[in-house]
Amino acid sequence: MNAPRVLVVEDEPDLRALVVHNLDMAQWQVFEAGSVRSALALARAHVPDLVVLDVMLPDGNGIEACKALRAEPSLAQTAVLLLTARGAESDRVAGLEAGADDYVVKPFSVRELVLRCRAVLRRRQPIVEPPRALQAHGIALDDVAHVASVGGAPIALTALEFRLLHMFLTNTGVVLTRQRLLEEVWQMRPDLQTRTVDTHVKRLRETLGKAGGAIETVRGIGYRMASVSP
Ligand code: CA
Repeated sequence: MNAPRVLVVEDEPDLRALVVHNLDMAQWQVFEAGSVRSALALARAHVPDLVVLDVMLPDGNGIEACKALRAEPSLAQTAVLLLTARGAESDRVAGLEAGADDYVVKPFSVRELVLRCRAVLRRRQPIVEPPRALQAHGIALDDVAHVASVGGAPIALTALEFRLLHMFLTNTGVVLTRQRLLEEVWQMRPDLQTRTVDTHVKRLRETLGKAGGAIETVRGIGYRMASVSP
Protein backbone atom coordinates (compact mmCIF):
# COMPACT_ATOMS: atom_id res chain seq x y z
CA MET A 1 0.00 0.00 0.00
CA ASN A 2 1.17 3.55 -0.73
CA ALA A 3 1.85 5.84 2.21
CA PRO A 4 -1.46 7.15 3.53
CA ARG A 5 -2.05 10.82 2.81
CA VAL A 6 -3.26 12.78 5.79
CA LEU A 7 -4.25 16.41 6.21
CA VAL A 8 -3.73 17.77 9.74
CA VAL A 9 -5.96 20.78 10.50
CA GLU A 10 -5.05 22.47 13.79
CA ASP A 11 -4.45 26.15 14.50
CA GLU A 12 -2.29 25.63 17.58
CA PRO A 13 1.24 25.59 16.07
CA ASP A 14 2.97 23.42 18.71
CA LEU A 15 0.24 20.80 18.73
CA ARG A 16 0.10 20.73 14.95
CA ALA A 17 3.88 20.33 14.73
CA LEU A 18 3.75 17.43 17.22
CA VAL A 19 1.02 15.60 15.31
CA VAL A 20 2.69 16.23 11.94
CA HIS A 21 6.03 15.01 13.29
CA ASN A 22 4.54 11.77 14.58
CA LEU A 23 2.66 11.03 11.38
CA ASP A 24 5.83 11.82 9.42
CA MET A 25 7.68 9.29 11.59
CA ALA A 26 5.00 6.75 10.71
CA GLN A 27 5.99 7.36 7.05
CA TRP A 28 2.73 9.03 6.16
CA GLN A 29 2.47 11.79 3.61
CA VAL A 30 1.36 14.79 5.64
CA PHE A 31 -0.22 18.10 4.63
CA GLU A 32 -1.11 20.75 7.18
CA ALA A 33 -3.52 23.62 7.59
CA GLY A 34 -4.40 26.08 10.36
CA SER A 35 -7.81 27.23 9.19
CA VAL A 36 -11.04 25.91 7.67
CA ARG A 37 -10.35 27.83 4.47
CA SER A 38 -6.91 26.38 3.82
CA ALA A 39 -8.11 22.93 4.97
CA LEU A 40 -10.85 22.82 2.34
CA ALA A 41 -8.48 24.11 -0.36
CA LEU A 42 -5.79 21.53 0.50
CA ALA A 43 -8.33 18.70 0.75
CA ARG A 44 -9.65 19.49 -2.73
CA ALA A 45 -6.13 19.78 -4.14
CA HIS A 46 -4.60 16.64 -2.58
CA VAL A 47 -7.59 14.35 -1.85
CA PRO A 48 -6.15 12.92 1.39
CA ASP A 49 -7.10 9.50 2.77
CA LEU A 50 -7.71 11.07 6.16
CA VAL A 51 -8.34 14.54 7.60
CA VAL A 52 -7.47 15.07 11.27
CA LEU A 53 -9.69 18.03 12.02
CA ASP A 54 -9.70 20.29 15.06
CA VAL A 55 -13.18 21.53 16.03
CA MET A 56 -12.21 25.05 17.18
CA LEU A 57 -10.54 26.88 14.31
CA PRO A 58 -9.96 30.64 13.92
CA ASP A 59 -12.22 31.06 10.89
CA GLY A 60 -14.90 28.52 11.68
CA ASN A 61 -15.96 25.26 13.19
CA GLY A 62 -14.50 21.84 12.38
CA ILE A 63 -17.96 20.29 12.39
CA GLU A 64 -19.10 22.66 9.63
CA ALA A 65 -15.84 21.91 7.81
CA CYS A 66 -16.60 18.19 8.14
CA LYS A 67 -20.01 18.73 6.55
CA ALA A 68 -18.36 20.67 3.72
CA LEU A 69 -15.85 17.83 3.16
CA ARG A 70 -18.66 15.28 3.16
CA ALA A 71 -20.50 17.32 0.52
CA GLU A 72 -17.56 16.99 -1.93
CA PRO A 73 -18.06 13.99 -4.21
CA SER A 74 -14.30 13.79 -4.90
CA LEU A 75 -13.68 13.27 -1.17
CA ALA A 76 -16.16 10.43 -0.71
CA GLN A 77 -13.34 8.06 0.31
CA THR A 78 -11.70 10.52 2.70
CA ALA A 79 -12.03 9.67 6.39
CA VAL A 80 -12.40 12.39 9.02
CA LEU A 81 -11.16 12.21 12.60
CA LEU A 82 -12.17 15.12 14.84
CA LEU A 83 -10.14 16.61 17.67
CA THR A 84 -12.66 17.76 20.27
CA ALA A 85 -12.36 19.54 23.60
CA ARG A 86 -12.79 17.64 26.85
CA GLY A 87 -16.38 17.85 28.04
CA ALA A 88 -17.76 19.01 24.69
CA GLU A 89 -19.91 15.94 24.26
CA SER A 90 -22.37 17.78 22.02
CA ASP A 91 -19.48 18.40 19.59
CA ARG A 92 -18.75 14.69 19.43
CA VAL A 93 -22.34 13.77 18.69
CA ALA A 94 -22.68 16.60 16.14
CA GLY A 95 -19.37 15.57 14.58
CA LEU A 96 -20.33 11.92 14.15
CA GLU A 97 -23.67 13.02 12.75
CA ALA A 98 -21.85 15.37 10.35
CA GLY A 99 -20.09 12.30 8.95
CA ALA A 100 -16.89 12.15 11.00
CA ASP A 101 -15.54 8.61 11.35
CA ASP A 102 -14.24 9.00 14.88
CA TYR A 103 -12.97 11.59 17.34
CA VAL A 104 -10.18 12.00 19.85
CA VAL A 105 -10.64 14.14 22.95
CA LYS A 106 -8.01 16.77 23.83
CA PRO A 107 -5.63 16.48 25.54
CA PHE A 108 -4.69 13.20 23.87
CA SER A 109 -1.60 11.06 23.68
CA VAL A 110 -0.09 11.27 20.22
CA ARG A 111 0.41 7.53 20.26
CA GLU A 112 -3.33 7.02 20.75
CA LEU A 113 -4.06 9.51 17.97
CA VAL A 114 -1.82 7.60 15.53
CA LEU A 115 -3.51 4.30 16.49
CA ARG A 116 -6.96 5.82 15.96
CA CYS A 117 -5.86 7.21 12.59
CA ARG A 118 -4.74 3.72 11.56
CA ALA A 119 -8.02 2.18 12.74
CA VAL A 120 -10.09 4.71 10.82
CA LEU A 121 -8.03 4.16 7.66
CA ARG A 122 -8.30 0.38 7.91
CA ARG A 123 -12.03 0.79 8.05
CA ARG A 124 -12.03 2.98 4.94
CA GLN A 125 -9.82 0.74 2.84
CA PRO A 126 -11.75 -0.75 -0.03
CA ILE A 127 -12.21 -4.46 0.44
CA VAL A 128 -10.89 -6.21 -2.64
CA GLU A 129 -12.09 -9.63 -1.65
CA PRO A 130 -14.71 -9.77 1.08
CA PRO A 131 -13.30 -11.83 3.94
CA ARG A 132 -15.30 -14.90 4.77
CA ALA A 133 -14.46 -14.82 8.46
CA LEU A 134 -14.30 -11.76 10.69
CA GLN A 135 -12.19 -12.05 13.82
CA ALA A 136 -11.35 -9.88 16.81
CA HIS A 137 -10.91 -10.38 20.55
CA GLY A 138 -11.34 -14.14 20.20
CA ILE A 139 -14.71 -13.66 18.53
CA ALA A 140 -15.11 -15.15 15.07
CA LEU A 141 -17.99 -14.70 12.69
CA ASP A 142 -18.41 -16.53 9.41
CA ASP A 143 -20.64 -14.59 7.07
CA VAL A 144 -21.14 -17.35 4.56
CA ALA A 145 -21.85 -20.21 6.96
CA HIS A 146 -23.68 -17.77 9.28
CA VAL A 147 -22.02 -19.11 12.43
CA ALA A 148 -20.26 -17.32 15.28
CA SER A 149 -17.89 -18.52 17.98
CA VAL A 150 -15.95 -17.27 20.97
CA GLY A 151 -12.57 -18.83 21.63
CA GLY A 152 -13.51 -21.56 19.15
CA ALA A 153 -16.76 -22.49 20.94
CA PRO A 154 -19.91 -21.90 18.86
CA ILE A 155 -22.45 -19.42 20.24
CA ALA A 156 -26.14 -19.12 19.45
CA LEU A 157 -27.22 -15.74 18.10
CA THR A 158 -30.51 -14.44 16.78
CA ALA A 159 -30.42 -13.00 13.25
CA LEU A 160 -30.49 -9.52 14.74
CA GLU A 161 -27.65 -10.23 17.17
CA PHE A 162 -25.67 -11.68 14.27
CA ARG A 163 -26.09 -8.43 12.29
CA LEU A 164 -25.20 -6.39 15.37
CA LEU A 165 -22.02 -8.41 15.99
CA HIS A 166 -21.15 -8.17 12.30
CA MET A 167 -21.48 -4.38 12.48
CA PHE A 168 -19.14 -4.25 15.49
CA LEU A 169 -16.55 -6.57 13.97
CA THR A 170 -16.41 -4.61 10.72
CA ASN A 171 -15.99 -1.35 12.67
CA THR A 172 -13.40 -2.14 15.34
CA GLY A 173 -12.08 1.03 16.93
CA VAL A 174 -14.90 3.14 15.49
CA VAL A 175 -17.67 4.71 17.57
CA LEU A 176 -21.13 3.65 16.42
CA THR A 177 -23.93 5.95 17.49
CA ARG A 178 -27.21 4.41 18.61
CA GLN A 179 -28.80 6.18 15.65
CA ARG A 180 -26.43 4.55 13.17
CA LEU A 181 -26.97 1.12 14.74
CA LEU A 182 -30.73 1.58 14.53
CA GLU A 183 -30.46 2.55 10.88
CA GLU A 184 -28.01 -0.11 9.76
CA VAL A 185 -28.78 -3.09 12.00
CA TRP A 186 -32.50 -2.60 12.61
CA GLN A 187 -33.07 -0.70 9.36
CA MET A 188 -35.19 1.63 11.43
CA ARG A 189 -35.42 5.37 11.17
CA PRO A 190 -33.51 6.78 14.12
CA ASP A 191 -35.89 8.02 16.77
CA LEU A 192 -35.75 8.38 20.51
CA GLN A 193 -36.36 4.68 21.23
CA THR A 194 -32.65 3.97 21.68
CA ARG A 195 -33.33 1.69 24.66
CA THR A 196 -33.80 -1.06 22.07
CA VAL A 197 -30.13 -0.78 21.13
CA ASP A 198 -28.97 -0.87 24.75
CA THR A 199 -31.08 -3.94 25.53
CA HIS A 200 -29.68 -5.90 22.59
CA VAL A 201 -26.09 -4.85 23.19
CA LYS A 202 -26.44 -5.99 26.81
CA ARG A 203 -27.74 -9.38 25.68
CA LEU A 204 -25.02 -9.71 23.04
CA ARG A 205 -22.34 -8.94 25.63
CA GLU A 206 -23.78 -11.63 27.91
CA THR A 207 -23.76 -14.16 25.10
CA LEU A 208 -20.13 -13.30 24.30
CA GLY A 209 -19.10 -13.86 27.92
CA LYS A 210 -15.62 -12.52 28.69
CA ALA A 211 -15.16 -11.32 25.10
CA GLY A 212 -18.26 -9.12 25.56
CA GLY A 213 -16.03 -6.59 27.36
CA ALA A 214 -14.58 -5.69 23.94
CA ILE A 215 -17.84 -3.84 23.22
CA GLU A 216 -17.23 -0.56 25.02
CA THR A 217 -19.91 1.91 26.03
CA VAL A 218 -19.20 5.43 24.79
CA ARG A 219 -21.24 7.48 27.22
CA GLY A 220 -24.01 9.54 25.73
CA ILE A 221 -23.15 8.43 22.19
CA GLY A 222 -23.20 4.71 21.59
CA TYR A 223 -20.78 1.81 21.44
CA ARG A 224 -17.41 0.85 20.07
CA MET A 225 -15.69 -2.49 19.68
CA ALA A 226 -12.16 -2.00 20.98
CA SER A 227 -9.43 -1.65 18.34
CA VAL A 228 -7.32 -4.64 17.54
CA SER A 229 -3.61 -3.85 17.93
CA PRO A 230 -1.91 -3.56 14.53
CA1 CA B 1 -8.10 24.95 17.89
